[in-house]
Amino acid sequence: MKKNLAITFTAITLVGLSLSPMLSASASDSGVDMPDAFGDEVNNVIFLIPDGFSTAYADSYRLFKEDGPPIWEEKQMLKGMVATHSADSLITDSAAAGTALATGVKTNNGVIGYSPEGEELESIVDLARQAGKKNGLVATSTINHATPAAFAASVEGRNDYEGIAKQLIHHDGIDLLLGGGREQFQSPEQGGIREDGVDLIGEAEDNGFTYMETKRDLLATEADSSKKFLGLFADDALLANFGPSIIEPSLAQMTSFAIDHLSQSDEGFFLMVEGSQIDWVGHDNDAAYAMKDTHAFEEAVKLAVDFAEQDKETLVVIVGDHDTGGLSIQPDDEFNPSNLHDVSMTGADMIQLVDHSFSNLEEVITEETSMTFSGDELERIKKSNDPKMALNTLVSEKAGMAWTSDNHTAIDVPIYAYGPQSTNFTGTIDNTDVFQGIRQALIGN
Ligand SMILES: [Zn+2]
Repeated sequence: MKKNLAITFTAITLVGLSLSPMLSASASDSGVDMPDAFGDEVNNVIFLIPDGFSTAYADSYRLFKEDGPPIWEEKQMLKGMVATHSADSLITDSAAAGTALATGVKTNNGVIGYSPEGEELESIVDLARQAGKKNGLVATSTINHATPAAFAASVEGRNDYEGIAKQLIHHDGIDLLLGGGREQFQSPEQGGIREDGVDLIGEAEDNGFTYMETKRDLLATEADSSKKFLGLFADDALLANFGPSIIEPSLAQMTSFAIDHLSQSDEGFFLMVEGSQIDWVGHDNDAAYAMKDTHAFEEAVKLAVDFAEQDKETLVVIVGDHDTGGLSIQPDDEFNPSNLHDVSMTGADMIQLVDHSFSNLEEVITEETSMTFSGDELERIKKSNDPKMALNTLVSEKAGMAWTSDNHTAIDVPIYAYGPQSTNFTGTIDNTDVFQGIRQALIGN
């Protein structure tokens, strides 16, 4: 039972727990299938950001998975730990964290693309463009949300969504934008919410972008290196990924299109892919959503790794911008993350289905979680002034998972890398060092 010994050791090291060998999940063996053909040359970087992801998410996900270790363990991608504090706070927000990862400069919480002194910063997208490379940004949030924004916009306040959207489509280094946020690119007459009344999708088309609006559009469109692509697949963020959507593409489908398109350039490319909603999971303490969104993220990582193995000159980097939720795990035979497989929707969505008198509470949550709830547990939800959080806390307990916060925390986050120059990220490093490692690989000194 070598595999079970491996996981027990890892879990004890991280959170001081012991695991039953009955659990089927397994960490990878040391005999990794590592292609030895990687040289030192980097032409492309695929930077995947699971927003809010910590080691406890990784450990939970290892126990949740039933078909072998996560790709980052199978390929032994773990390189080090990253400190995430911002210029003005030990606990960063996504704007300052995104700016550090994209530009190598720590700024104040809430600020995107400017230093604390107000100096406009150059991002890795700017540097890649100057080196003749193509750039793409992919997210499951609105595409003008803080993390993707940090790579191609500069605003004093992260809530300037109209300003960010405009900068993204006019940035001369951006060749591809895929995510949500359609209403922030449209005037009220078009069904959007832009207060300036501008038709930004029209402006994007005038600026050379081909526009896509549905999964069908994305899957039917040929990648074409002479074109730029704007895909806005939802009015607001994309749906929580509890299974395939008819209308919206998955993160993996967007990532696949992005790699197909950007890799047609001989000069190379930089692609940022954000698993945006892992952070929202942490804010809501929603264990099932955490596992489902990490799964959707892993599917995108697999595509990046496959491409890197074929291409040989692609560096893949994975790091969260900070932890969200302060998750820990105390699993045993009865209560562990594998209990979350049959949960069909977020806790927030379940509470939406419950009437004001809670008369259908038990029916809804039993059906949508495939778990049983005692009378005391149902009372805990009914009596709470935040029934969604009470439900999510209970479901997390039934998965052996517990949260210490409904916000970001200050703990370091794990960094994973694969391909040439993946050792640029070894040890305990700062979030600004992540930028330096990517810059050094993609641009050189
Ligand atoms: Zn974040």
